[in-house]
Amino acid sequence: MPSTAIVWIRRDLRLKDNPALNAALNNHEKVVIVYVSNTQEEAPWEMGAASRWWIHHSLINFAERIKKHGNTLIIRQGGSLKTLIELSAETGAKSVYWNRLYDPTIVKRDKFIKQQLVENGIAARSFNGALLREPWDVEKEGGGFYKVYTPFSRRYFQLTELGPEHEAPDSLPGVERIPQHLKPEQLNLLPIGNWYSEFSRYWEPGEEGAGIKLNQFMDDVVLRYATDRDVPGVSGVSRLSPYLHFGEISPRQIWHRVQQYASFSQREEEVKPYLKQLVWRDFAHHLLYHLPHTPQRPFRELFADFQWQHDDALFRAWCQGKTGIPLIDAGMRELWQTGWMHNRVRMLTASFLTKNGLVHWLEGAKWFWDTLLDASLANNTMGWQWTAGCGVDAAPYFRIFSPVRQGDRFDQQGLYIKKWVPEIANLPEKYIHQPWAAPAPILSEANFVLGKSYPLPIVDLSTTRKCALERYQALKKGD
Ligand SMILES: Cc1cc2nc3c(=O)[nH]c(=O)nc-3n(C[C@H](O)[C@H](O)[C@H](O)COP(=O)(O)OP(=O)(O)OC[C@H]3O[C@@H](n4cnc5c(N)ncnc54)[C@H](O)[C@@H]3O)c2cc1C
Repeated sequence: MPSTAIVWIRRDLRLKDNPALNAALNNHEKVVIVYVSNTQEEAPWEMGAASRWWIHHSLINFAERIKKHGNTLIIRQGGSLKTLIELSAETGAKSVYWNRLYDPTIVKRDKFIKQQLVENGIAARSFNGALLREPWDVEKEGGGFYKVYTPFSRRYFQLTELGPEHEAPDSLPGVERIPQHLKPEQLNLLPIGNWYSEFSRYWEPGEEGAGIKLNQFMDDVVLRYATDRDVPGVSGVSRLSPYLHFGEISPRQIWHRVQQYASFSQREEEVKPYLKQLVWRDFAHHLLYHLPHTPQRPFRELFADFQWQHDDALFRAWCQGKTGIPLIDAGMRELWQTGWMHNRVRMLTASFLTKNGLVHWLEGAKWFWDTLLDASLANNTMGWQWTAGCGVDAAPYFRIFSPVRQGDRFDQQGLYIKKWVPEIANLPEKYIHQPWAAPAPILSEANFVLGKSYPLPIVDLSTTRKCALERYQALKKGD
C-alpha cells in the first residue's frame, strides 16, 4: 500500500509556503487533507462571530483550490483527536502533519494529541508555518525570553536570514476511496443576523485574496508606509492581518517579497518600518507563548487591584459608535461595517474605553474578539494590555490619548470622520474632531444640532482623564 499521510489544516489555509503540507508531500506518496471543526476545543477563546464569517468563506475557497489540484478537502466536525485516529484507520495513513499554533489552549491540546497519536502507532510531526521565528528560538543573551519589543526587534535583524519559502505543489495526490466529508456550508459557521453583509465588499478571504492585497500594497503603499501608516483616512497600510491570521499567506512570504523589492531598488531603510510590524506580530506570539495567562490576567500584577468600572451605557455607546467623540465613533463604526479597524484608531478606542471610561480592558478585548476579522489572541491581548497600561512594554498609564489632539494630528482634514461619521461631515475641519466646541452660529450654518444630529459627548474628556490619573496614583501608592 502506498505511504499516505494526513495533513491537518488549521489556520494555514494555503498551498504556497505551507511547511507541513510540503513535508508530507516530500515523504509520502498520498495526502489526506483534513480540516476539523471544533471551536469548543479552543474555549474560552473559541472563534468570534467575525472570524466565523471569514473561515466559512476561506474554507470554500480552499476546498476549491484543493479540488483543482486533484484532491478533496476532508471536512469533519467533532473531537480533533478522535477524527484524526478515525481517518488514520480509514485511509491507512500512519503519519499526521500540521503547522503549529500558539494559543495556550491549543498548545496544550496539540501536545496531548501528539502524545496520543504516537501511543496509537501514528507518527506526528509539527512545523512552524505561522511565524517568522519560533517563540523559543529567540532568547536574550543571558537566556530567558524578551519582555521589551526594542531589544527583541534588534535581535531579529541580527539573526540569520529566514529560510526560503516553499513553492505551491503542482498536484496533491490523494487516496482512491475519498473519506466521508462535509461541505464547508454544512458547518453552519456563518453567524446569526447579517451585520456582516458588507464584509465581502472589502474582503476576499483565501490565498488569491491575500496575493491581491500584497500586490496592491507593494505597488502602491510600501514606500509610503513609514509616513502614511498612522493616517487612518488614507490607504497607508497593508490590510493583510486577517490573511496572516488565517494563514492564507505566511509572514515569511511577505518578508521575502518586501526584502527582495528593497534590495533590488536599494530601499532597505524605507521598508524597515513595515518589516518591524511583522516582528511586532512575532513579539505578540512570543509573549503569549511565554506568558499564557495574559489573555485573562494583567501582566503587571499591580493592575489586578485596579478599580475598573462597569458602565453599561458607556460600553454600549462605545460598541455602537455613538459616544459623541467623532474619532472614537468613526473607529467603532469602521469595525462594525468592515470587520477591521486602523491600528492608530484601535489604540485610541481602547484608550478611551479603559482610561476615559475606566472599563476593564477585557470587556473591550472581548468585543474586538467577536467583531474583528483578524481577531488574534496574541495581537489582541498585547494591544489591549499595552493600551490599558498593564502589559509588558506598556504605554505608561499617565499617557492618555486625547482623541481631539490625535484627530488634529493624524486626520487633519477629517477625511476619516467624513467617511464613517457622515452626519458631521459639513462641520468646518476646525471642529470636526470636537463638535461640542463649535460656536452656535457655525453649528446652525452647518444645520447641525448637537445632541440631535449627533450625540453629545458621553463623558467629559478632561474630567475623566483626571479621574483615571487619580486612580492610577492611588494604585501606585498601594503598591
Ligand atoms: C487594542 C488593539 C487590539 C488589536 N487587536 C489585534 C488583533 O486582534 N489582530 C491583529 O492582527 N492585530 C491586532 N492589533 C494590532 C494592529 O492594530 C493590527 O495588526 C493592524 O491594524 C492590522 O492592519 P494591517 O494588516 O494593515 O497592518 P500593517 O500596518 O500593514 O502591518 C502588517 C502586519 O503586521 C502585524 N502588525 C501590525 N501592527 C501590529 C501590532 N501593533 N501588533 C501586532 N502585530 C502587528 C499584523 O499582522 C499586520 O497585518 C491590535 C492593536 C490594538 C491597539
